[in-house]
Amino acid sequence: MLPFARVTIIGLGLIGSSVARAVQATMPTVRVTGYDADATVREAADQLQFCDDVADSAGAAVIDADLVILCVPVGIMGDVAAEFAAELPADAIVSDVGSCKAEIVRALTEALPNATVIPAHPVAGTERSGPEAGFATLFRHRWCIVTPPEGADPVAVERVSEFWRRLGAQVETMAPEHHDRVLAVTSHLPHLIAYTIVGTAGDLEEVTQSEVIKYSAGGFRDFTRIAASDPTMWRDIFLNNREAVLEMLQRFSEDLSHLQRAIRWGDGDALFDLFTRTRAIRRSIVEQGQDDDVQDFGRTHG
Ligand code: NAP
Repeated sequence: MLPFARVTIIGLGLIGSSVARAVQATMPTVRVTGYDADATVREAADQLQFCDDVADSAGAAVIDADLVILCVPVGIMGDVAAEFAAELPADAIVSDVGSCKAEIVRALTEALPNATVIPAHPVAGTERSGPEAGFATLFRHRWCIVTPPEGADPVAVERVSEFWRRLGAQVETMAPEHHDRVLAVTSHLPHLIAYTIVGTAGDLEEVTQSEVIKYSAGGFRDFTRIAASDPTMWRDIFLNNREAVLEMLQRFSEDLSHLQRAIRWGDGDALFDLFTRTRAIRRSIVEQGQDDDVQDFGRTHG
């Protein structure tokens, strides 16, 4: 049996439109209603036809939903939930796809004190945004981390988990705070480093911008892909996962100082040991199917 019959998606950008497309592809009898605050996005959704209907307010969109998924930037989850609180059916489950969880659990349970709130985070995405960027297979073979608040109804948790499994994801359940620490090191810190490196290279005076671009294949280019990610989304992630990010950043700065010392004192063994360990981590990521072993990230040269 399908976990839900009427799904409402609020925020029809990369993730929201991908969820809609994936529901159409995997559960075609489920009715998908969409809403986005931006009229041009609603028009695009109408044209691209990844929803059965597109509502013109958040309240109208949720009126008979049995699952509502918020796919808006992390910083406005609570405000958007408050917009439709009065129209939300009593038995509906509210979920979201935000990239950090403890703050969202707090904001959603505060805005919807009587609702069943089961947040989730599909660990899948691209550096692109908007309704045109979405695609139905985005979540296939990717992880979706479900982060129920303490004491959540296990039946509701299972329905949300089953929904994501049907979209092709592998599901894991985690406490919201634990999720935020894991993602701080696997996603948020790498983005912060990429933003820093690309910013530093952009600010260098003795190396010209055109040289940075021309010789970017030396490693810089891979950072620029990450550093091209959506500014609103990433601003909100750092402001809403502040503690875990600052803690990981502190550890990273200490490790960087050790590396700096090894280079200064010519400690080749320390460098070699670290690079051997990191190479093994890359190997396990490929072995576990989280990336392809394609040379140069599959780029074609010619
Ligand atoms: P996106 O492509 O920018 O889509 C977000 C959409 O929400 C936009 O169309 C935006 O419209 C709309 N919106 C903004 N305020 C709204 C409001 N008050 N009511 C209704 N709609 C509103 O961003 P995304 O990449 O899909 O990210 C959405 C969520 O997914 C974020 O919470 C993010 O943390 C999470 N996530 C992202 C990724 C990723 O790789 N991108 C991966 C996993 C999870 P305008 O832009 O026109 O204002």
